[in-house]
Amino acid sequence: MASMNQWIAATLLIGAAATASAHALGGGAARSTGDAAAVGAPLAAPAPRSLEAALAAVSPDHIRNDIDYLASDELAGRDTPSREQRIAARFLRHRVQRLGFAPGAKDGYFFQYPLDFKQLDEAKTKAWIDTDGERTELAFAKEFFLSPRSLAATRLEAGVVFCGTGSKEELAKVGPLNGRYALVMDKGDFGRRLDNALREAGAAGSLMTRASDARGPAYEEIFPQQLESLRRGSPAWPSAETTPALPRAYLTKECAAKLLASFGSSDPALGDELDCKFGLEVALQGDGKVWCENVCAFWPGSDPVLAQETIIVSAHYDHLGIAGDGRVFNGADDNGSGTCGLLALAEALAARGPLSRSVVLIWVSGEEKGLWGSQAWAANPWLPNGAKAVADINIDMIGRNKPDSLLITPTKSHDAYNGLVKIADRLAPQEGFPKLGSADDYWSRSDHAMFARLGIPVTFLFADLHEDYHRVTDDPEKIDCDKIARVVRLVMRMIEELQGPSLLPQS
Ligand SMILES: [Zn+2]
Repeated sequence: MASMNQWIAATLLIGAAATASAHALGGGAARSTGDAAAVGAPLAAPAPRSLEAALAAVSPDHIRNDIDYLASDELAGRDTPSREQRIAARFLRHRVQRLGFAPGAKDGYFFQYPLDFKQLDEAKTKAWIDTDGERTELAFAKEFFLSPRSLAATRLEAGVVFCGTGSKEELAKVGPLNGRYALVMDKGDFGRRLDNALREAGAAGSLMTRASDARGPAYEEIFPQQLESLRRGSPAWPSAETTPALPRAYLTKECAAKLLASFGSSDPALGDELDCKFGLEVALQGDGKVWCENVCAFWPGSDPVLAQETIIVSAHYDHLGIAGDGRVFNGADDNGSGTCGLLALAEALAARGPLSRSVVLIWVSGEEKGLWGSQAWAANPWLPNGAKAVADINIDMIGRNKPDSLLITPTKSHDAYNGLVKIADRLAPQEGFPKLGSADDYWSRSDHAMFARLGIPVTFLFADLHEDYHRVTDDPEKIDCDKIARVVRLVMRMIEELQGPSLLPQS
C-alpha cells in the first residue's frame, strides 16, 4: 500500500494511458459456471484438477515459510531499486517456473522498466578556480556541494558575474550573462524558478552562496543529508522535462570568501565580474538509468477463444527498504502477505490445471514509490499470444486485523463498481468473511488503480491498515497466515466463476 503522498505524486505524474476495453464485467454481468463447494467441509480426497483440489492446495504453512523468507532482514525491505529486490524477483520466478507457469512478459518472466537514477561519481567530480593561469582545486563536500535535485552530468568553465539574490529586478540590472556563471546570494526561497530566471538572463550555470539573513537551515546542516543521497542515488519516474537543470554548485562560507576575494571586495556590486574563471565537472555513475522488474507468470487457458481473455491477479512485492537508523522495513503485511498469497494462488492454479481462460500473475515493484511498476505496465501493456486483459484482482495487505474482516473496492457506491465485486461479495462468506467492508477510500492507493486506467474492471482486496503500517515493526510473526490463505481461496473461487462465456463485447 502506497502512502498518501506517494499516490498523490503518482496521480500527478500520470498521463492516462488508455486502451480501453469496456465489457460485460463493467456492468457486472459475469456468469457463474457452477456451484462452489461449501467451505469448511472436509476435503479428504479432492478430485484432481477440480476447484476443490485447487482450494486444498492453498497452504497456510507454505505462506508462513514464504513470508519468513521475503520479509526477513536479509531481504532488506525489498526497496525499489535494490539488489535484494532483484533477489526477491528471482525467487518468485524460480517458484513459478517450477510450478509450470509460462513467461508472462515479452522477454521472459520479467517485465522490465527503466527509472531515472542519478548517483554521483564522486571521484570524477571536481571544481576549480583559475586566476591568472593559476588553478585552485576545490574539495568536494568540504568547499563545494551539489544538490541531488539538480544533479546532472556536466562540464562548464566560465566567467562569474555577481547577481545579488537573483531576483528578476536584479537580473534585469545585470544585463545579459552570455554563458557565464551567476553568483547568487541564496536567501533560501528558490526552487526551479531561479533556474528559469537565470536561463532567461543567459546564464550557463549558478554558484550559490548563503546570504547571512537567509531563511531555513545553514548549508552546513543540509550538506550531510544531501551527501548521503548523492552517494546512494535516488530513483525517479522518468522525467518528461527535456530542459536539463542548469549546472549549480553550492559554496561553503570559506570557499565563497575565496571567490569574492578576487573582486578585491567582499561586497561586490551587481553585475561585477570576478577576475577568474570557475570550473565545474560533475560525473554520474552508469548511464543515469536503472531497470526494475515486475515478475509475470502466465497460466494459459485451454479454450481457444476464452484463452485470449486473461484474468490478471496482482500484488506488489516491493517495500520501503532500510530506515535511516539501519533498521529494516520488513513489510511482512505490506506486502509480504499479498506477495506470498500470490505464490499460494500459483500453487492452487497448478493443482487446478488449465482453466478455460488464461490467468497472468503479476508481482509488481515500485508500488511504494508511487505505483511505478503498474504504471509502467499500463503504459506498455503486454500479454502472451496477443491476449486481452478482462479483469484485475489486486491483493495488498491481507494478513492482519480481525480474522473475519476484509475490505473491497469499488463498492456499490463507487463509480467503478463492477461484476468482480458482486462475485466477491457473494463468495466471501464461504471463506469466513461474512460481509466485505469498503476500501473505497483506498481506491487510488494500490496497483489496481493503474489497471483500471486501461478500462479493465478491477477489484482490490485489502484487510486494512494497522499500527505497524509503514513502520519497521511490520514483522512476520504478526501475520495471520490462515487469513491470507482464505483470501487466496476466495480469489481462486472468483477465478473459477470467471470461466463463463466471453466477457468481451461481441463485435
Ligand atoms: Zn505500503
